[in-house]
Amino acid sequence: MRVRFSARPQAWDEWAPALRAACPEMVLERGGDPAAFDAIIYAPGGDIEDFAPYRNTRLVQSLWAGVERIVTNQTLTQPLARMVDPGLAAGMAEYCTGWTMRAHLGMDRYAQDGIWRNGQIPPLAAERPVTILGMGELGRATARHLRAIGFPVTGFSRSGHPVEGVAVTSDLPTALAQAQILIALLPDTPDTRNLMDAASLGLLPKGAWLINPGRGTLIDDHALLDALDAGHLAHAVLDVFRTEPLPPDHPFWHHAGVTVTPHIAAETRPETAAPVVAANLRAAMSGGPISCLVDRSRGY
Ligand code: NAP
Repeated sequence: MRVRFSARPQAWDEWAPALRAACPEMVLERGGDPAAFDAIIYAPGGDIEDFAPYRNTRLVQSLWAGVERIVTNQTLTQPLARMVDPGLAAGMAEYCTGWTMRAHLGMDRYAQDGIWRNGQIPPLAAERPVTILGMGELGRATARHLRAIGFPVTGFSRSGHPVEGVAVTSDLPTALAQAQILIALLPDTPDTRNLMDAASLGLLPKGAWLINPGRGTLIDDHALLDALDAGHLAHAVLDVFRTEPLPPDHPFWHHAGVTVTPHIAAETRPETAAPVVAANLRAAMSGGPISCLVDRSRGY
């Protein structure tokens, strides 16, 4: 099996050893006759933009969970699978749990300034409703972590498909109404862009926190800043942005109600993801079922 690797240049050293170990029968290459390749392993930042010459390729396997930068490529007619990696999901669940606990325990309240602030005892997790927008691989992993601590979790998804221990709805106002902490784990698609606009933000309870490690296009930046300035939202933790890196003059950098993290919430990890890639490559070669195929019409 000949497999073409296309990702940012540094990714080769990170990925090649793990991929070869997981799939020894694969010949992994960074270039060559496009017609000779059975599959492509892809991440943004690589050298393939035109997929048409890869006419014998049976699978394009993304190394990223989010596929918005490839899904609209008109030359891509081959099946596209997105990344589902247990290491990525664990990292995301830990990121979301950490920032949720900061919000829940009011960690920012206790400055080292000699003031004895004993007026507010945090409620138990069981009294702090959390809503997760997106009940996919990452939303479900995050929900499991938060449920284990005791948070009541509401989930929002397109289908409203049930998830054990989570009250799932496909109705956004219902999902937002009780959310003292809102975690957004939605893909970037035409349907999710600006979903969190002024009207949606206004549906959150006063004093809510917003944590967004999904995609920056979900949120109307100006509406978010207005909601923070008006005191309607308490704080926003943002990992993803419309422009990345976030420009130095963007107001998010300078707003006391915003915490910026630089798109580090969760990384695909070669050691846990390579076996997933190997299984999908073998499925593509044998004509078996390929997992995590992207639905082009939905965009995720
Ligand atoms: P996934 O498994 O494809 O799940 C996507 C979820 O979003 C599904 O529950 C889906 O609903 C829901 N959804 C999609 N469009 C919707 C809409 N218009 N309205 C309501 N719900 C909608 O994706 P995932 O693996 O969990 O990843 C989610 C996103 O996280 C990725 O797309 C990526 O953008 C982001 N991400 C960020 C980082 C980071 O480091 N910051 C790392 C990895 C991924 P259904 O269940 O009904 O299909």
